[in-house]
Amino acid sequence: MVRTVLAMLAFAAVATVGDVAVEPVVAHAADDVHVVGEAIIAGPTGAFAASTTAKAAAKAAAPGCDDRSYALSPWRVDKPYQWTYNPKGTPASVAATALGAIQRGSTTVSSGRNRCRTTTRLTTTNQYKGTTTRVAQVSASGTCAGNDGVSVTSWGRLPSAYLAYTCVYYRSNGTVIASDMLIDNSVHAWATTLPARCVKTFDLESVVVHERGHTAGIGHVEQVRSVQQTMSPRNQPCSTTKRLLGAGDLAGLRARYGA
Ligand SMILES: [Zn+2]
Repeated sequence: MVRTVLAMLAFAAVATVGDVAVEPVVAHAADDVHVVGEAIIAGPTGAFAASTTAKAAAKAAAPGCDDRSYALSPWRVDKPYQWTYNPKGTPASVAATALGAIQRGSTTVSSGRNRCRTTTRLTTTNQYKGTTTRVAQVSASGTCAGNDGVSVTSWGRLPSAYLAYTCVYYRSNGTVIASDMLIDNSVHAWATTLPARCVKTFDLESVVVHERGHTAGIGHVEQVRSVQQTMSPRNQPCSTTKRLLGAGDLAGLRARYGA
């Protein structure tokens, strides 16, 4: 994983691999405050082929449970992650349901809900603190645009490949100060219940689980080898697989927050 530390630069350009950003962007935002921006990318993942054997069928029923790959970011949420939500710009398709999906996705990460029937106890928590008129400090070009110390989830414009973008501000000792998430509302179609004939609609809750994973401090795993982990960098339309954590995602959270 390539990380570029840019002293005294608050707003770094997005590191790109191919035509999309897949690596976190690390910058030095102020004395002892660091910021990292992380995206989740729309597109084919190459996963989820049809099952042809009993063993493959069992794996398909619990995808990602035989892969314990994870990556840790250099921060942790020591206090409850307190976040606010700005519903302005919510797409009509999820106007009534987006907040519920974001709350469920947030709690999936803090509680370790997974597809592998693994019970766990994590020492991290999240608290929804109500609506706000603030907006996530993420620019339309997909960079972290400032730190007001308040964690906001909101909707707005992002580069076309991006489904959502999370910025994490943390101190040198790893403590997270704030973490914003901006969800695209200009390119992609969203649902909280996928349509019967789904072609290109994205499941909001799945994307939220991935992004809250970033806030909690688990990073991207390799796309092809660990495609079924929620922390693989791409998400395909018409899939709800990432609503729950895979074995690797959970192993990463346990490494950080295992009780
Ligand atoms: Zn990501």
